[in-house]
Amino acid sequence: MIWEQELAALKEKGLYRKLRSVETLNDDGQALVNGQKMLMFASNNYLGLAQDQRVIEASIQATERFGAGSTGSRLTTGHSIIHEALEGKLAQFKQTEAAIVLNTGYMANMAVLTTIVGEGDLILSDAGNHASIIDGCRLSRAKTVIYSHADLDDLELKLQGHQGFKKTLIVTDGVFSMDGDIAPLPGIVNLAKRYGALIMMDDAHATGVLGKDGRGTSEHFGLKGKVDIEMGTLSKAIGVEGGFVAGSRSLIDYLLNKARPFIFSTALSPGVVAGASAAVDIIMTEPERRVRLQNMSRHLYEELTSLGYTVTGGETPILGIICGKPEQATLLSKELHKHGIYAPAIRPPTVPDGTSRIRLTLMSQHRERHIDHVISAFKAIRANDTDSVDKTLPIG
Ligand code: PMP
Repeated sequence: MIWEQELAALKEKGLYRKLRSVETLNDDGQALVNGQKMLMFASNNYLGLAQDQRVIEASIQATERFGAGSTGSRLTTGHSIIHEALEGKLAQFKQTEAAIVLNTGYMANMAVLTTIVGEGDLILSDAGNHASIIDGCRLSRAKTVIYSHADLDDLELKLQGHQGFKKTLIVTDGVFSMDGDIAPLPGIVNLAKRYGALIMMDDAHATGVLGKDGRGTSEHFGLKGKVDIEMGTLSKAIGVEGGFVAGSRSLIDYLLNKARPFIFSTALSPGVVAGASAAVDIIMTEPERRVRLQNMSRHLYEELTSLGYTVTGGETPILGIICGKPEQATLLSKELHKHGIYAPAIRPPTVPDGTSRIRLTLMSQHRERHIDHVISAFKAIRANDTDSVDKTLPIG
């Protein structure tokens, strides 16, 4: 079979993937992975809300009251008062006129990109954008031009070089999922204004994490109201699952009427929706989780950099420890595993060739002793001089 040859080729290149089951993630950052107790450093549960008793309780109560499933798409039988309440809350949180909930962040990106732009339009997309943006661009039928990662000069060159389209949409992650760096939003806003372009921002990793009140990248930069379309997920800091889009009332009405991923898919289950609502309340009222997370992330970034590792990010809970080849990242992941740290290798096509890495993500429930343990593990691995990191890479 053709796929068996392809699987063999993936194994040959060190790119073969397999699943590991994470049974329980405790509220102290420990997890059972394939039956073994480990420190979890690979979860997007940045604020620990997936284990928060208030979120779990809200979810149970809604399941008991409304049922296990939503029973239909939002425009038929799937819509309920709790979907409406969540959308109202998300709009309030994101300080927009309205919001719409979709079943995943992936579908939220699909919904926007296949609805807002089409033939005769132009999309300018950052080279580091998430796969769901890449797929949405492909499906949109708009001309898609990739600009170099976070490079405003290249973005401007591409804006100048591609004129005459009906609409131009600049699309960027707010926080890039694999590097953990933040998009140069002030420059993007400036260019969009000068060239008459719309801005769409995927704030999956910034929602709940960046900004004084956790509203995301635009709050971080003091640019609330300057991004036309803000997308987010309910599956990372919000701790459950689902996606959403926040923006003007007319944008949200348009998506409700036209976006196929919204129209043709069963609505999120009541338990998920109520859990997300409870989580957004906690995000808005407990800023201390965010502050802890930021302090720990900065500390770990500085320590790993000073050990000689090439580390991306530094301002968010996502740190990329660059290894180089896929095998090197896999080796480092195995070494970390021996130290009881769960941090899988990230390899192409998720990241560009030559930048295979360990992606470490922090959660507010990590303790100082967990961070110290990670630092000493990296120190020991470096001292043993395994081949897990390409030493020819520039330092820090
Ligand atoms: N955008 C970004 C930047 C992401 O990292 C992800 C998930 N990894 C998504 C969108 C998709 O979100 P979801 O997992 O909710 O489908």
